[in-house]
Amino acid sequence: MIYDVIIIGGGPSGLMACNVFEQENINYLLLEKNEKLAKKLLISGGKRCNVTNNLSIDQFIASLNLKHKKFLYHALKDFGPIEIIDFFKGHGLNLVLEDNLKYFPETQKSSSVLEALVKDLDMNRVKLNHGVKRIDQDNHVFSIHTAHEIFQSKHVVIATGSNSYPTTGSSGDGLEFARYLNVETIPFTPAETYIYSNEIVEKYKDLQGVSINQTKVKINGTNMSYTGGLLFTHFGLSGPVILHASEDIYQALLKDKVSISFSLIEQSREELIQLLDQAKNNKLFIVKFLETITTKKLAQKMIDLAGIENRNMNEIAKKDINHIIENLTNFTVSIDKVQSRDLAFVNAGGISTKELDPKSMEVKHKPGLYFIGETVDLHGPIGGFNITIALSSGHMCAKHISYKLKS
Ligand SMILES: Cc1cc2nc3c(=O)[nH]c(=O)nc-3n(C[C@H](O)[C@H](O)[C@H](O)COP(=O)(O)OP(=O)(O)OC[C@H]3O[C@@H](n4cnc5c(N)ncnc54)[C@H](O)[C@@H]3O)c2cc1C
Repeated sequence: MIYDVIIIGGGPSGLMACNVFEQENINYLLLEKNEKLAKKLLISGGKRCNVTNNLSIDQFIASLNLKHKKFLYHALKDFGPIEIIDFFKGHGLNLVLEDNLKYFPETQKSSSVLEALVKDLDMNRVKLNHGVKRIDQDNHVFSIHTAHEIFQSKHVVIATGSNSYPTTGSSGDGLEFARYLNVETIPFTPAETYIYSNEIVEKYKDLQGVSINQTKVKINGTNMSYTGGLLFTHFGLSGPVILHASEDIYQALLKDKVSISFSLIEQSREELIQLLDQAKNNKLFIVKFLETITTKKLAQKMIDLAGIENRNMNEIAKKDINHIIENLTNFTVSIDKVQSRDLAFVNAGGISTKELDPKSMEVKHKPGLYFIGETVDLHGPIGGFNITIALSSGHMCAKHISYKLKS
């Protein structure tokens, strides 16, 4: 039998495509290499799955690090956060808003998200334990090779994910298929992950657990900066702002040594100088003053780093005050390593968007061949961006194929 379409990969992007094909009565088949579907989705968001967010399309796109972020406009317009919330509601699952940004299932279980995604699917069309090894194309028909069988199809949708958390099944196979079929790829590299700093381990171990609610992180020597929460860990730094900056730090490390700078307090340098003057007039002890603008731990660390005792501020030399000002407003540390792509939450890289039609995800020079989800060079920060990209690109692609088959 020649199928109308074969989808390779049963993660959120592949499953959303299947939902459209089911609804449109298309003769499809889903091939999944694992013994169960969507292993990564099940562990996502601490097993609660942050499905999407409450951003408008413009805000969503503006939040991405990607140079080619506008590529996503059509997919999000076809099926963005609002349509995703409606889809799950229509499949018996309400999504609830958290932190005025993220939508999670009301059950607080990622398994409910998977249940909704498979609710309407005909499971006879899903073949588990069918890892695809190779794809050939001959006269507009694709032959899809698994270990024991060959399937044929008029269209192929590759939804195999990236190389992050390969134990979930996302082991970079999409890029292998693309290379074999002469489609341009960009190697997968880590994104949305932790960073390692020997300087922090050696010099600032005592800051482990200190978190800064909102700070601006600059990668020194570049014009790149990011805003968000930051956390000192036993190996380096974490927190949303670090996760977001990690892919650029990774790229910067490939070229040279990297240091980053950030403020440890909410106040600007000018505001801090004013506050210090007031504290001096009030004859406050330095630690007492520092504790009004930061934590006990950081206050003590600042005077340790300046090499001074806790004394009346009038007795502290200007150079030592300047040292404290610099550390509080422009704390600088060298970075040695970014977490590996295997352990990063998502990967940068994938199928080059230059190869794809943004209105369909079809390879421009290979009609019938499509790539969707994280296997494409598309990803976002934490906050439901990545599952949204998977669902949205899967939906638009499947709509396009269904329309093509019916016209
Ligand atoms: C720990 C963790 C937490 C996360 N939390 C969130 C979150 O809360 N919100 C969010 O938006 N994003 C989150 N993400 C990212 C998000 O899970 C992914 O971006 C998303 O799952 C990508 O979907 P996908 O369908 O493109 O690929 P995947 O989910 O990776 O699915 C790919 C599927 O293809 C199958 N496959 C691979 N190769 C083959 C082959 N050769 N043959 C057959 N099948 C194959 C795999 O087994 C897998 O089932 C998280 C990621 C991680 C690692």
